[in-house]
Amino acid sequence: MKSHSTAGFGTKAIHAGQSPDPSTGAIMTPVYMTSTYVQEAPAKTKGYDYSRSHNPTRTAMEQNLAALEGGAFGLGFASGMAAIHCVLNLLQAGDHVIAGNDLYGGTYRILKTLYAKFGLETTFVDLTDLQQLEAAFRPNTKLVMLETPTNPLLRCCDLRALAKICKRHKVLSMADNTFATPYLQNPLALGCDIVVHSTTKYLGGHSDVVGGVLVSDDAELHKRLAHFQNSCGGTPGPMDCFLVLRGTKTLHVRMERHCENALQVAKWLSAHPRVERVLYPGLPSHPNHAIAKRQMRAGGGMVSVELKATVAQAKKVCSSFGVFSLAESLGGVESLVDHPASMTHASIPAEERRRSGLQDGLIRLSVGIEDADDLVADLDQALRRLR
Ligand SMILES: *Cc1c(COP(=O)(O)O)cnc(C)c1O
Repeated sequence: MKSHSTAGFGTKAIHAGQSPDPSTGAIMTPVYMTSTYVQEAPAKTKGYDYSRSHNPTRTAMEQNLAALEGGAFGLGFASGMAAIHCVLNLLQAGDHVIAGNDLYGGTYRILKTLYAKFGLETTFVDLTDLQQLEAAFRPNTKLVMLETPTNPLLRCCDLRALAKICKRHKVLSMADNTFATPYLQNPLALGCDIVVHSTTKYLGGHSDVVGGVLVSDDAELHKRLAHFQNSCGGTPGPMDCFLVLRGTKTLHVRMERHCENALQVAKWLSAHPRVERVLYPGLPSHPNHAIAKRQMRAGGGMVSVELKATVAQAKKVCSSFGVFSLAESLGGVESLVDHPASMTHASIPAEERRRSGLQDGLIRLSVGIEDADDLVADLDQALRRLR
């Protein structure tokens, strides 16, 4: 099945980009473990000549993810960072980038420690404040990089408004949709140019694969991105693509449960005496709740909590869970807890971290699809360590 423009999300998730194997009828896309392809005559191929350039399992994954994001073109990468790296290669020395000020730590790091030395300048701004964004544009601005909800503060910026501003300035917009997933939010439909995912997270969904993808809807832009993908070769292997394809088949079902559980956990935490603040876009108390409600189907599976705790106490809580596992990453079926200040966001200098609102006592929960009552009971016993 190739064209699913009118089908519902669940039908696309299961079928888009995939059809039974023509030689055997196998319903699952085979894992094409091959580097090269036999040609009938020189340059006479069946569309495949070398697996860095194209591989049938990857093609199925790319088409599946493009369909889920409502874009025409998908490109698979060996990681989310490889995908982001590809987008940055649209630029050249002397160009200027505007990026959100609480981006994924690795995105911050690639801009600060790698691209800066090639003459790419970045201004980090709070993208929930459109005036800050407007003020940051320069004549040489070429790209705006955004995430919504952000990591780990779960701020939500207005995708439609942001995309409109970027279009007026003739600047590309790239939305990292990893936290929301295409089930909850579709940035291309709201006017963004490129969607990026770390498929390592919800799309894979089972904590067993690292990968990334770019989706775009403009043939010329896709051509430039594809040229880089083929030239530099940060492409995923067929087994990785198979795992992501297997993951997306249940994305809609998993996301429903992630969101239900996260809402229950967020509500319970909001009433806890040792909790300073719960950051969850699905709660009316969230500062960007109205925007989230407008552009997301539900609040997502991530919940961040500011504990009334010192760094040492927050670390102790993080080590006291029975069901939640202390680990980086997110989006798998199992619940994880992270202490951003000492784990995922440790590469951001402490001063800068605090300035952007990331407190030392903040813990980030990736709420899994276990029984919500067990998750709440686990939080209850862990937070008792604070007494
Ligand atoms: C994990 C993550 C990335 C990086 O993806 P990798 O697959 O780890 O390279 C980028 N953006 C966000 C929001 C992420 O959570």
